[in-house]
Amino acid sequence: MRIETIRTHLLTAPISEPFAFSQRWVHERVALIVEVVAEGGLVGWGECYGPPRLLQPVIERFYAPLLVGHDALAGAAHWERLYNELRDHGQRGLAVQALAGLDVALWDLRGKAAGLPIHRLMGGPLRSSARAYATGLYRKTDDTGRNRALLVEEAQGYAADGFGAMKLKVGFDPVDDAANTEAIRAAIGDGIGLMIDANHGFDRIDALALARRVEPLGIGWFEEPVAPEDVAGYRWLAGQTAIPIAGGECSFTRFDFQILLANGAVDVVQPDTCAAGGLTECLRIAALANAAGVRYHPHVWGTGIAIATALHLIAMLPAAAQGLWANEPWLEFDRTPHPFRDAIVKQPFRLEQGRVAVPTGPGLGIEIDRDALARFRTEP
Ligand code: CA
Repeated sequence: MRIETIRTHLLTAPISEPFAFSQRWVHERVALIVEVVAEGGLVGWGECYGPPRLLQPVIERFYAPLLVGHDALAGAAHWERLYNELRDHGQRGLAVQALAGLDVALWDLRGKAAGLPIHRLMGGPLRSSARAYATGLYRKTDDTGRNRALLVEEAQGYAADGFGAMKLKVGFDPVDDAANTEAIRAAIGDGIGLMIDANHGFDRIDALALARRVEPLGIGWFEEPVAPEDVAGYRWLAGQTAIPIAGGECSFTRFDFQILLANGAVDVVQPDTCAAGGLTECLRIAALANAAGVRYHPHVWGTGIAIATALHLIAMLPAAAQGLWANEPWLEFDRTPHPFRDAIVKQPFRLEQGRVAVPTGPGLGIEIDRDALARFRTEP
């Protein structure tokens, strides 16, 4: 079975209630969806995490011509070939994000060809559902007091929904961030996990200032405290605070993660499957993390395709330590406004008693709603 056609779908939608993280305000949701069509009409779907308008030409002008006409079932072989074709000018960022979307689409295609869900092709599952934490608690206004009240209200909503944990955006001002963290902890009580995420908005000094203030609050992890390139800063902070240090959504392939792990820079790795190199590469990163005794909680930010991708990977992630009460991987379950996250899949993912089920249909186990794709499609 040969690859016949590769298409990309650039999707965009404005959002009526903008929100901010440490780097910028978000006014629009975007995605690049990858469609690989094989001879006979079988279709595989993937998604890239990254700037879609820039990723689109990387796929269409560079990778697609190298794939069309080749064996549709040889995903891992194509990974090596394509990575090496752009290695001298790639290695991370757009080059790997584009490759990730294609890799996921080829896994979906292989699963459909075999009539098996991806996690069965991989020899799993280790688990058939994932505990989910709520990603939300972004800044909604620059009015500090009003913002805090809105955060508390939102956190109470996640607790009522049955989430076992939630994540707060920090990285603005250590004193204000600490006050927000305290207010949320007080509102939700001690029985629910609470993590903080600076999106590398701090340097070492401010990162440690916040860590010191919130250390008594039972913080699950402190995510991206400093710049992703600052491996020494990660390692230094990890030695200064009892809060587990997490990172990796801006790191790519086994090569970047080997550097983070060999340097003892992180307690938790968070590769994004749709960015760090796809399912093929994230299984390798998982092996590295496991050998280093480091927890793996994947970063997830995208549509139902990205969520399905993460769930098949989570079905295959070994716990950092085995045991009756082993620490399981978390599904990052984004709750921020997103007009097409659910719309483009026919069976959107739902939280049930704090967990999300791993799809059991062939491939990714999802059906794409082509009408919704057309509705949100934007020409580059
Ligand atoms: Ca993050």
